[in-house]
This record gives sequence, C-alpha cells and structure tokens, in this order.
Amino acid sequence: MFPAPCYVPTPSCGIELLRKYSGPVPRYTSYPTANHFTENLAAFDPETQLKLDNQPGAGPLSLYVHLPFCQSRCWFCGCTNLVTSRQDSADTYLDDLAKEIALTTPYIDPARTVTQLHLGGGTPTFLTASQLRRLGQLFHDAFRFTADAEISVEIDPRHLEPDQVAALYELGARRASLGVQDTDPAVQLAIHRVQPPALNERAVTLLRNAGFTSINIDLITGLPKQTVSTFARTIDDVLGLAPNRLSVFSYAHVPGLKPSQRIFDQQGTLPSADEKLRMQVLAKERLLAAGFVEVGMDHYARPDDELAVALREQALHRNFQGYSTRAGASLYGFGISAISTTPHGYRQNDKNLATYRTRLAKGELPITRGWLLSDEDRRRKTIIMAIMCERRLDFAALSAELGVEVKEAYANELASLVDLEADGIVERTEDGLTVTDTGQPFVRVVAARFDAHLKTGTAAYHSRAV
Ligand code: SF4
Repeated sequence: MFPAPCYVPTPSCGIELLRKYSGPVPRYTSYPTANHFTENLAAFDPETQLKLDNQPGAGPLSLYVHLPFCQSRCWFCGCTNLVTSRQDSADTYLDDLAKEIALTTPYIDPARTVTQLHLGGGTPTFLTASQLRRLGQLFHDAFRFTADAEISVEIDPRHLEPDQVAALYELGARRASLGVQDTDPAVQLAIHRVQPPALNERAVTLLRNAGFTSINIDLITGLPKQTVSTFARTIDDVLGLAPNRLSVFSYAHVPGLKPSQRIFDQQGTLPSADEKLRMQVLAKERLLAAGFVEVGMDHYARPDDELAVALREQALHRNFQGYSTRAGASLYGFGISAISTTPHGYRQNDKNLATYRTRLAKGELPITRGWLLSDEDRRRKTIIMAIMCERRLDFAALSAELGVEVKEAYANELASLVDLEADGIVERTEDGLTVTDTGQPFVRVVAARFDAHLKTGTAAYHSRAV
C-alpha cells in the first residue's frame, strides 16, 4: 500500500537545500512549458485543435479573460499589460472580445457548461462599472454557466470603487485576488507601486460587505529593498485582513525578457538570494503557525478552503492561473496573450493588441502559437502534474492510467532522483514516489526530472526554483 502524503505543518526546510536547488526551472503551469509552443501553424493548426477539443463527451469549460490595461507600470511585473489613462481603450477592447467570442463559440457545443470564469490582467478593475457589466453580459450571453460556477477576479486595491464591486458581484464574482505584494513603503517606492495598507483594508471591506466569500492576497518575495524583517511586517499586515488564501510568489528577475526590471539592476537594491530564501522560509513558518495549509507550490489556504479540501482529496489541478479545483474542465482563454489548455494541447492568442485586433477584424481567430500534445507529452504531463499537485506518484495507478509500465518507461528519470533522495526531498518505495514535506519547496525541481523538453539554454525563460 502506498501511503498518501501528510500535509500537516512541519519544520521549515534548510537554507542549504534551498541554496542547492534554487536554479532556474519551469513553474509547470503547462507541459510542455509555454516557451516550447510553436508558431509553425503547419505543425499546429488551431482550427483542427478546436475541433478535436469539441468531440462528443468533451468536458465543461473554464474561461479566462485577459484584461491587459493598467493605470501605471509596476517595475517588477511580468504580465502582459498595457499602460494607459484612456478609459475608452477598454470599450474598444470589449468590442474585440465580442468578436473573439463570436469566432470561438461555433467550435463549442452549446450544451457544454461553464464551471469557472476568471478575470485576470493587467488590471480588471481598470474597467468602469458599466464596462464590467458589459463584459459579464458578453460571457453570460454566449455561454451557459452552472449555478455554482466559480467566478473570480484579480483586484488592484488602488483602483477599486463600490460601483465596480457591485458590478463584479452582479456578474457572479465571489472570489477576489488582491495584488498586495509588500506593505513596506520603501519597497513600494522601489517597485513603483505605492499602496498604503489602508487601501488594502478598504478593498477587503468593500468586497466582504458586497458578499464576496473568498479573499486571496498575493505577496512577492525578492523585491528591491525587502528584508526578512520588512517582510515579516508585511505578513503580519496581511494576516490582519483575514484572507482565505495567500499566494507567496518568488520574484522572477528576467530583465532580458521584461525591460522594466532593468531598473532594479541599476538601483542595486535587490535582496541577496539567501535573504530571499529566508523570506520564503519565514512566510512558510508564519503562515503554517497561523493555521494555513500549504497547497502545492506558493499557495496557502485555510483548512476549510476549497483548495485545501481539494488537496486533501487529491483533486487539485494546475493550469495557467495556478492551482484549480475544477476537474475535467478545458480552459479557454480570451484576450491578448491568453492561453487555452485542453486535453489535446495549448493555444495562445497574439500578445500584441494591434495584430490581435487586425486578425479579429479579418474574421480570423487571433491564435498565433500553440502545441498539440503527443501521446508521450500527455504521459509526461500526467506525471509532472501529479508531482506538482499531489506530490506523489503511485506507479500501479499511473501505469494503468498511462498504459505503460511507469517504472520501466521512466527508469532513467527515476534513477536521476538519487541526489534528491539523498537530500530527503523525495522518498522512493517499490510502489511509488513521494515528495516529502522537506521537499515541498522543490516540487518543480522533482517535476523537471521528467521534462523531456527541458534543454540547457532555456534558463532565461524560467524563474529560480525557490
Ligand atoms: S502588477 Fe498588476 S497593476 Fe502592476 S503592472 Fe502588473 S498587471 Fe499592472
């Protein structure tokens, strides 16, 4: 019998291990990772994939809409965004989304229901209340939502008014994710995101009073001017907001890909790798002590939260929004840069607003790159997602599911885990593999050993493991 992993709080892992395994590795929100998607539309035909994805028996839908506009640029940001003060940009963008929905829905059986909708960005609250209502109308008119569909939205507490909260509630949103990052004034100045804690409190009060039932707070470690003690105060501040979930992301410094991050090299105020690792250890200790459960990678949830329940029931899934509880749903992304994830592969929309718009105007789907999964990709994806979500591999169950003898087919990959085993990150038995509690921060290091596409020279695309 292969034991299920234990998720009770444990002592933090050692800094030495964090240091040893902190090299760049993918975050595995997809497999293969997005840098491998092809633009060769002869190898990957979006229309063929859309048809494959809609065969009889295709599951429910999870929708993502990317709303790219921001009032100003946070210098750490890695998202696809467009800084503007022109409110009418959002009106034109809503016209674009209407066209994209009209071009996509003919490929979707109207009987398929929507179990999830996520409004991400950029800044969804760049949109006015009436623009948000129009957005909700577009999606509710085009798709059939289940009564308990989970609708969530990313919130910028600096730009949130009561009428926007009311509009979001009307369109069905009950979950909100607040971008806080850090509450220290010096850090906020250094990252070009001044956000006094009173704004966070105001946003949480507005949302809770309106009837939002779940509040997630996003924090980042490794920002300029951050120290362990400033970050300890940040954690205390956000715990005071009584969130249901917290995400503690590690800042990904990739100035080659994100030019706005170059300023941090000029400032010379980024914390050392050790300091950043200490912040992560501190976050874990504080949040576990406060009663949160560590979920997968970077995420913490109250034990009664759906995410923590899904973890206990081994029903956690991973996609481009992080961890999800909705099993079997195909993710369809709308808007610039949005990625769709389905059983057959991935499709990504044009990242450039002008060319995205031109393609829509010509009546073309705005998909520019993607990946059609081979059988081998699908097997490795299953293994990698099991590591990322459940932290375990059950060889017998996996062999039955994948149709290959896992121990034989992946003997080299399993043999490559010897160093991780020696360091107490994984435990192996005849029946399976478990990522230990000590190994929790290194799940993506373990997953990477099964990645057949991972090549040297892709480090610039990936953030450090911890
Ligand atoms: S962090 Fe959010 S608000 Fe800041 S630039 Fe990025 S998407 Fe815009």
